[in-house]
Amino acid sequence: MSIPFDNSYARLPERFFAPVSPTPGPDARIVRVNGALAFELGLDAEWLNGAEGLKMLSGGQVPDNATPIALAYAGHQFGNFVPKLGDGRAVLLGEVIDRHGRRRDIQLKGAGRTPFSRGGDGRAALGPVLREYVMSEAMAALGIPTTRALAAVTTGELVMRDTAIPGAMVTRVAASHVRVGTFQYFAAREDVEALHILADYVIARRYPEAANAANPYRALLDGVIAAQVELVSRWLLVGFIHGVMNTDNCSIAGETIDYGPCAFLDAYDPAAVFSSIDRMGRYAYGQQPSIAHWNLIRLAEAMLPLLGDQEDAAIEEAQQALAAFGPAFEQAYRAGLRRKLGLGDEAAGDALAAEILSAMTTNAVDFTLFFRRLSGAVGGDDGPVRSLFIDPTAYDAWAIEWRRALEAAPQDAAARRADMDAVNPAFIPRNHQIEAMINAAVDHQDFAPFETLLSVLSRPYDDQPEAARFAEPPLDHERVLATFCGT
Ligand code: AMP
Ligand code: MG
Repeated sequence: MSIPFDNSYARLPERFFAPVSPTPGPDARIVRVNGALAFELGLDAEWLNGAEGLKMLSGGQVPDNATPIALAYAGHQFGNFVPKLGDGRAVLLGEVIDRHGRRRDIQLKGAGRTPFSRGGDGRAALGPVLREYVMSEAMAALGIPTTRALAAVTTGELVMRDTAIPGAMVTRVAASHVRVGTFQYFAAREDVEALHILADYVIARRYPEAANAANPYRALLDGVIAAQVELVSRWLLVGFIHGVMNTDNCSIAGETIDYGPCAFLDAYDPAAVFSSIDRMGRYAYGQQPSIAHWNLIRLAEAMLPLLGDQEDAAIEEAQQALAAFGPAFEQAYRAGLRRKLGLGDEAAGDALAAEILSAMTTNAVDFTLFFRRLSGAVGGDDGPVRSLFIDPTAYDAWAIEWRRALEAAPQDAAARRADMDAVNPAFIPRNHQIEAMINAAVDHQDFAPFETLLSVLSRPYDDQPEAARFAEPPLDHERVLATFCGT
């Protein structure tokens, strides 16, 4: 089989990337090929699972028409600008056009050193690879824009982290790997020509409607802001914490990218932080909208030379574009919360949402279970919901008002429940289950929990009685307090 790679990024000027070859491990083995995604990409899953597929997925052999490259980018890491980061352990094999006509990047992550590796070994460890695989596929099943995982392989090599652990690679599929940090890379070099080329590339590939606008680059900025509003509001509505929202991990295409120390909330808490490297809580759950805004300000700064001929005019365009973020986010987030509560009316819905979230914080209520069980309360069965509260009377008082609001907008109870269940997942990748899955694979070469988790999480909005234990929050001793990047 030959994969019809078309490497549009590799046709950009040389300073956009470095040509590299992936470095395979000594004894590569397939952990899993994502058959459904392979199909979507027009690839043959059986071929990928075979000897030649393994060679491609483990970096052992570059397909004939691929032009492997590592992308150049910069980024603000925890607020500090680093002018040169780039793909230090990822190799973009190329792009394919999927069955829907969309251009998708196919990239090996953990494929060895590149000119951007700095002190790193270019490798990825099995735990983080499996975490990225499960998290990104769960995110896709939740209907949230994300990079995908086409395959995971082990390399047969040990990588040194705190201890020696098995090395692995994940094949990541993205709408594009251009980041806010890619614009920053050229802005820091005052390479305005490259900024133009990059913006034109992104417009053609991802924001074609911007090409017809009076100011295409302003329209591009507006488009990226709208995509981030959509993305981050969706994260909050399922309790996702990215954990490392540096500008190099902020996708121009608006996908969730770079699953490092990410986590889902169990108990609702706006201040929740899991990432072991986020000591200041910069990327806490409730901080994510303002951090996305901060990242977009960095994008607008980098794009200033594109936004107008005069600096004043360019700054005015940037400010206008950025001013849309706050109101657009509030609108998207509040509308999402109202849907989760089964409420149509704006004023009553917003007040009820604020009240219950505050009560959930004080009562350490499981975020996912609360909303999932609430659809049962539509028919009057409050028990399962109220038992989630340390002080159930906090729920009782709220529920009276909530019912009143439901009655004000009459709807068939079954239809309302179905609408609520369609936005309130029963299953999310819970931290303690991810941890148990990783431990089984790394310590006992047991990949059954990985397969089981993937299967359950592929239908997050369906009740799956046989999988009920995966809907449960952690017991006290199972609770995960910190997640690690593990790079
Ligand atoms: P991340 O925090 O994963 O977004 O990575 C930040 C930067 O560090 C990127 O430029 C990565 O390519 C680079 N990096 C992370 N891990 C490694 C590694 N093991 N070897 C080389 N570069 C790495
Ligand atoms: Mg990154």
